Amino acid sequence: MMKVTVWGSRGSVASAGPDTIRYGGNTVCVQIDGPDGSVLILDAGTGIRRAGLALPGDGRPVHVLLTHLHMDHIQGLGFFPPLFEPGREVHVWGPPSNTQDLRARLTRYLSPPLFPVRIRDLTSHVELHDVPNEPWAVGGFTITAAGIVHPGPTVGYRIETSGARIAYMPDHEPILGGPIATGEWLSGYVLARDVDVLIHDGQYTDEEYRHRVGWGHSSIAHAVQLADVARARELVLIHHDPNHADGLIADLVAAARASRREGTVRGASEGMVLKA
Ligand SMILES: [Zn+2]
Ligand SMILES: [Zn+2]
Repeated sequence: MMKVTVWGSRGSVASAGPDTIRYGGNTVCVQIDGPDGSVLILDAGTGIRRAGLALPGDGRPVHVLLTHLHMDHIQGLGFFPPLFEPGREVHVWGPPSNTQDLRARLTRYLSPPLFPVRIRDLTSHVELHDVPNEPWAVGGFTITAAGIVHPGPTVGYRIETSGARIAYMPDHEPILGGPIATGEWLSGYVLARDVDVLIHDGQYTDEEYRHRVGWGHSSIAHAVQLADVARARELVLIHHDPNHADGLIADLVAAARASRREGTVRGASEGMVLKA
């Protein structure tokens, strides 16, 4: 059993306002709690601030898994309370790059002039890791990372405990990898196969996608196709477009649910909790 909590569901840029109250305006951050009390934080968008405040102050190590380093996925990191707890162990995992290690890339944001504090000056104990090529264990979780189609080094994650499987790919343009029906050759398929919950990019309508091919995101229809091909039981659409108001997202989610061959669809909203 895993518990999924959505702390940020928005893509691209935080978009607080009267039109985004239901689904939320904070950028992507999702927390996974395992049966043994282990916690994973997926991405460090602006939603991570509240995730950090809600974490138990039990001094356990915290693991933050970054899919990639676009700003909407790291901007909240400097406002994550465990980073400022003396001695707290914080592990940050992210995709490897051919040019610079994770520390060098993250430091471009977490240093002056963009941010007043440097990672090396934090009193917590921060460790940065490139994600391994093979599945690895964190607490009671088995985690698999795999590269997926998106501009720059980007991974998706598959997280398993005994009896439950979740996949997380908030930024993903699977259609560029070939026809989605091709199954196992498809970008993201190995992560999404037979999961209980697939948390996936659903940024665009079909019409919007036609004008944004190559921008790195899915149409909602592509997300549904991938969920069907991979036999994901529940599809949770995330990375909502900042210009999509609550009413539009609700309509798009309802249409997506009606179009699934099997399984359900939900729209990720801030504060949403679901079980896998
Ligand atoms: Zn993003
Ligand atoms: Zn991105």
